Amino acid sequence: MNRFLIILFLIFPVFIFAQLKSPAEFLGYEIGTHFSRHADVVAYFEHVAENSSLVQYSDYGITNERRRLTYAIISSEENLKNIEKIRTDNLKNAGIISGNANPEKAIVWLSYNVHGNEASSSEAAMNTIYKLLTEHQDYLQNTVIIMDPGVNPDGRDRYVNWYNQVQAKPYNTSQDATEHKEPWPSGRPNHYLFDLNRDWMWASQVETQQRLKIYNQWMPHLHVDFHEQFINNPYYFAPGAEPYHEIITPWQRDFQHQIGKNNAKYFDENGWLYFTRESFDLLYPSYGDTYPMYMGAIGMTYEQAGHGMAGLGIMNDENIELTLVDRVAHHTTTGLSTIEVASKQAKTLNSEFGKFFQNDNLKFKSFVLKGNADKIKSLTEMLDRHDIKYGFADGGKVKGFSYSTSKNATIDAKDALVVSTNQPKGKMVQVLFEPTTSLSTPITYDITAWSLPYAFGLDGIASTSLVPANSTVKKSAVSNIASPNAAGYIAKWNSLQDATFLSELLKNNIKVRFSEKELGFNGNSFGRGSLIITRSDNKTNSEFDTKLIEIANRMERELYASPTSYADELTDFGSQYVHLIKNKKVAMLQGAGTSSLNYGALWHFFETQLKYPITSINTESVGRVKWSEYDVLILPEGNYNSILNDDNFKILEDWVSQGGNLIAIGNAVALFEGKKGFDLNKNASENDEEKEDEASDKNLIPYAEREMESTKDMITGSIFKVKLDNTHPLAFGYDDTYYSMKLGNKSYKFLEDGYNVGYIEGDAVSVSGFTGEHAKASLKNSIVFAQAKKGSGSVVYMVDDVSFRSFWQNGKLFLANAVFFVK
Ligand SMILES: [Zn+2]
Repeated sequence: MNRFLIILFLIFPVFIFAQLKSPAEFLGYEIGTHFSRHADVVAYFEHVAENSSLVQYSDYGITNERRRLTYAIISSEENLKNIEKIRTDNLKNAGIISGNANPEKAIVWLSYNVHGNEASSSEAAMNTIYKLLTEHQDYLQNTVIIMDPGVNPDGRDRYVNWYNQVQAKPYNTSQDATEHKEPWPSGRPNHYLFDLNRDWMWASQVETQQRLKIYNQWMPHLHVDFHEQFINNPYYFAPGAEPYHEIITPWQRDFQHQIGKNNAKYFDENGWLYFTRESFDLLYPSYGDTYPMYMGAIGMTYEQAGHGMAGLGIMNDENIELTLVDRVAHHTTTGLSTIEVASKQAKTLNSEFGKFFQNDNLKFKSFVLKGNADKIKSLTEMLDRHDIKYGFADGGKVKGFSYSTSKNATIDAKDALVVSTNQPKGKMVQVLFEPTTSLSTPITYDITAWSLPYAFGLDGIASTSLVPANSTVKKSAVSNIASPNAAGYIAKWNSLQDATFLSELLKNNIKVRFSEKELGFNGNSFGRGSLIITRSDNKTNSEFDTKLIEIANRMERELYASPTSYADELTDFGSQYVHLIKNKKVAMLQGAGTSSLNYGALWHFFETQLKYPITSINTESVGRVKWSEYDVLILPEGNYNSILNDDNFKILEDWVSQGGNLIAIGNAVALFEGKKGFDLNKNASENDEEKEDEASDKNLIPYAEREMESTKDMITGSIFKVKLDNTHPLAFGYDDTYYSMKLGNKSYKFLEDGYNVGYIEGDAVSVSGFTGEHAKASLKNSIVFAQAKKGSGSVVYMVDDVSFRSFWQNGKLFLANAVFFVK
């Protein structure tokens, strides 16, 4: 509100209030009769802030497609005057900043439309703020409400713009109508096709990164994430379903019931159906309900029937018409009902919130991690986004549970990264780093393992005693200097950052080689995959030294300048095992039939992490592409048997035979199963016979127990120990063991002619997460990564997704190896 308006407000308060328009008055249509574009939602919130002294509205960022990310703070005038004190008192209560405070204001955060095509919720946000200001000002006396009306504006507008284009007038309720058939990739994900409701913790996306800055400044007591589910399920609100992570406190469990019962009261009054407790569990830490839970709030998901299918109105399978008007009414009701409970319980919320942050009886006290400096840095950068504290150990022996051996062990902690639970966010630390997560039931909505040392490729221990650490980060500045007399420079190859360095060199037209053999120069040793940048290869480039040194210093890569190309042993710069790296042309399939999530993760990887250009090609264009122009083709997860007809498969097969390098990821591998010349066969488990015997008994398993019985075949995101042949270029830069995130039970035999690069030999060993007994048995003697040779080309099979949700950091180097090194 500007000064002029404030003066006007003091003189004519009634006049000003009359300027506050309802959403319908402002937009020109009743809420629920038309989908509002994100810019219109923002415009309405701006209008509200300009016309109410109870609202502060700000931007907190911008999306990939340059849409505004915004939040409104709504409270009494008195509270808004003291808003900074209210905020800091809350952080003092949690111990996040020092000082004493006895705060009494409840802080409620409402997040709308994280899934873009669950589009009723941003409409409900407009309704909710208007009703708060006009009907429920009493809630605002002791409550601060933060509303984010659009968490995923790029996804929302993708849905809304499409729907508004195809909608019949009046809307058509037939499920067959085009307006109920949203095209690939749908409006659910963000620009890079990430599910932002899986990204809270990993924060790989700009929306999450910018939101977390505000979230962590506020640390609300309640967080509601508004969603939509399929059209036949009426409405879901808290309490959530089992499994709950054991870190969730009895108070947090109990308070969900209070909220649920208040929501139920309004739904009962209106005769609306709902369900609670049966689905939407609280385990995986990267959701909009669990993340706030592990950060001390009551985190909740509310799910309205609707989704990208529902449009303005649709007949569901029970022949009930579901309208956007009704969907908005339900989300508006639960939003207001939640604020009401918070307002009534403000005092208790504050005292219980304070207690949550006392972490003196957690199972583990310190997690002590060692490994590659780039990997440590990737991890600390993630911790920084959440204001989680860490330090580095000075030295000494430390005992604890070893991640690599799953037994107790003693390690030398010198310079190790130490993340301890004796900090306000200690419960989240425990959730993230504990080697295994206990499960009350394996039936969960998501993965059951994410222990960060495995994800980041670090080793170390989980200790039940506190390990002292120095909070100052040791930083050795990289300062290479040009050596105009050097025969060449050598750089190590161990991390994604090394691969990004290579990508930058290639973009700058610097010629680079890699070594298939270990190297020794003047007593320095370098592993397989190390980069060699020779003067000879770059002799026409007059700025070779300065450019190379500038890039290496900027990217913090250490170079070894060798005066000679004559090695200590065998492998000289000119060896047959030292190959020039081609500036590869990489294509990737996308579109109908591919997994938008996996395609998006790979797109994001190449564009924003490796920073290497790729050409995305739609699955419908396969028959019209001049494939000879490409060196590498990536097939992200997808159902290719349904999208690649025989002619198109033959086109790809010929391209491979003539020297193409195809990389198949996840279930894309299935495309080659049993096909002649691809060396790939399903793993018939030794237990199949046993399974069949059991199957015939299965008919006696009661109906009510079938769901649990089916878990025997399931792997719900578990971490497996994989052996690596790190002499093969696909595994350069890795140790001989890799921990893989397995998302399903697909299992293939060892290749007969090709290279088995990553594999499970003998019985599968899962170090974390749930695996059903049948699924585990079927993984015995199976491949995870392999290369099949075909003609003068090859196919790389990656049975497991190596860039899962972009948080499985340690898998990403496989992608760079597959693109640059494998031939
Ligand atoms: Zn959703």
